[in-house]
Amino acid sequence: MEPKLMSDSITELTKKIVNFRDERNWKQFHNPKDLAISVSLEAAELLEVFQWSGADTAVDTEKKIAKVKEELADVLIYSFLMANDLELDIPGIVSAKIDENNRKYPAEKAYGKADKYTAYAEDGEITE
Ligand SMILES: [Mg+2]
Repeated sequence: MEPKLMSDSITELTKKIVNFRDERNWKQFHNPKDLAISVSLEAAELLEVFQWSGADTAVDTEKKIAKVKEELADVLIYSFLMANDLELDIPGIVSAKIDENNRKYPAEKAYGKADKYTAYAEDGEITE
């Protein structure tokens, strides 16, 4: 079977998510502010996987993997809804952001480093 194009998958997933919402008449609650809050709250729930875990950063137990799947899905669902409602093209905005990150973090300068992009700017270069 041919792999689906990513944009086809995103369109299908968005329809499934929006249908779920519309069947419950929940769009009335989904303004951009509350969707942004929801993305952030679900991201915080994702962080709970690692709370109090000290140096244990791995996701290597069934319990952790299940929680990561659930909360990452929640983050993505609210993100898809926000993109849909604001008529944003997910592949387009992600691709544009990667292009921007390529400019900010040239591979030849940033390879293997975790510095902020300002560390790679030339003197006098606008980095924002
Ligand atoms: Mg959640």
